[in-house]
Amino acid sequence: MSGPITHVTVGEAETRAVAEALAATLVPGDLVLLHGDLGAGKTVFVKGLAQGLGLDPGAVTSPTFTLVHEYLGGRLPLIHLDLYRLAATDLDDVGLDPDLAARGVVVVEWAERLTRRPPASLVVRIGDLGAEAREILVTSGYSVR
Ligand code: ADP
Ligand code: MG
Repeated sequence: MSGPITHVTVGEAETRAVAEALAATLVPGDLVLLHGDLGAGKTVFVKGLAQGLGLDPGAVTSPTFTLVHEYLGGRLPLIHLDLYRLAATDLDDVGLDPDLAARGVVVVEWAERLTRRPPASLVVRIGDLGAEAREILVTSGYSVR
């Protein structure tokens, strides 16, 4: 088990590149939890994951009124959740399609909102270092449960 890996990025493209590289390591059933304040770059990170999975990153938007977005047609399906509008929730209660989740990768923005920490494959914490600089901490989830 390894500790967290820290990436410092400057600008959206670098954050996307970090996520794109991580996407190559993802396998069916993986769960990626994203933490970070508004504007940290969580959605940018999801765009990078999409790109790395062979999906259209332009299709990835911040789910505002839709809680779950599904992107199909890449190496793996990507299921994108944004819990921003929820006070507190359980991953079992958000209407995930269990079959799709088992075949694909689930990525959750505002994972802070989860009342129960699910067994994540990766936990990603993005911090704003000012201007276009961000610190991205990637932890292999199984080691931090
Ligand atoms: P979140 O989903 O965390 O609320 P977004 O990904 O929607 O945040 O927005 C991040 C904003 O910060 C975007 O406007 C993006 O262009 C900008 N930005 C500037 N520098 C970076 C960086 N290094 N990484 C990611 N986003 C950055
Ligand atoms: Mg977002």
